[in-house]
Amino acid sequence: MVVVMKERATEAQVDAVIARLIELGMDVHRSSGATRTVLGVVGAHKVEPELIGLLEGVHEVLRISEPYKRASRTFKPEDTIVNVGDVRIGGDEVIVMAGPCSAETDEQVQASAAAVKRAGAKILRGGAFKPRSSPYSFQGLGEVGLQMLRRAADAHNLKLITEVMDANQIELIGKYTDIYQVGARNMQNFTLLRELGHTRKPVLIKRGLSATIEEWLMSAEYILAGGNNDVILCERGIRTFETATRNTFDISAIPVVKKLSHLPVVADPSHGAGRRDMVAPMARAAVAAGADGLIIEVHHDPDHALSDGAQSMFPMQFDRLMAELRIIAPAIGRSICLESVARRGWSR
Ligand code: PEP
Ligand code: MN
Repeated sequence: MVVVMKERATEAQVDAVIARLIELGMDVHRSSGATRTVLGVVGAHKVEPELIGLLEGVHEVLRISEPYKRASRTFKPEDTIVNVGDVRIGGDEVIVMAGPCSAETDEQVQASAAAVKRAGAKILRGGAFKPRSSPYSFQGLGEVGLQMLRRAADAHNLKLITEVMDANQIELIGKYTDIYQVGARNMQNFTLLRELGHTRKPVLIKRGLSATIEEWLMSAEYILAGGNNDVILCERGIRTFETATRNTFDISAIPVVKKLSHLPVVADPSHGAGRRDMVAPMARAAVAAGADGLIIEVHHDPDHALSDGAQSMFPMQFDRLMAELRIIAPAIGRSICLESVARRGWSR
């Protein structure tokens, strides 16, 4: 249930409604927007909405049919903006996160970070703890990888996003990263989600390989319910009967989720497509569909990457994509970083 207070409701009226709901055994989550206060109400008991509607200062009481509450747009009608230092995710500007799939060497991370910065990315991506389908594949460098990523991010004035696979890695990774990434395979690792709800750093949660949009939003709800409001959703492709691409990139999920939820939505065309020649068209489509950001794999030498080389872009391809996005974003009322200095030599 959501209680929408009147525009001119006083603080005392809001407090009285909250006190009454708590008395009735409910959990109340307050959201104070620019014009009015909205109370998200959850609890095991049944409360008559009509009775709450009679309390002073209440504009209307809505039943939320969705099982998620705090992630729902009914609870919070205005878009959430996640601030990572001076980078705002969910505002007018489309934010691009880019970098290698995994941190491999200092030279590789530095070269990739320099390339993505030059092209206009604001956030460096890269994994130090890698969820690999095979136990024999490269598993990531652990803390050494985190150090490489942090050094490169700082050297190029980028923010950093890196994956956390287990609740026991939260503290260590928190010393280095600006945003925690929850991978597709961990979307329903509820212990991890619950613990991330207690942190105060933004969390990007990827959609699971076979997760419905509702299940994905329920996972976001775990983090929000713990008190961490800085959650970013990421569509990265789902598993279907189609085998021509690594996954089926569900672009329709972007407008669907933007309608259902106030949380920012980022798209990952690299894992969505799985092939570097398909990444640019999917990235362009995602921005056109309303994504608040992109997360893209870029490697200075992708043919020798230790993970996901086939879907990692060459820096030159990424430069070109960024230039194209600078044309697409304004067409739908968005902006994108204009600082790029790298527009040379596309045809080479
Ligand atoms: C990644 O970002 O490198 C990754 C492992 O992504 P996903 O969890 O979407 O497979
Ligand atoms: Mn990857």
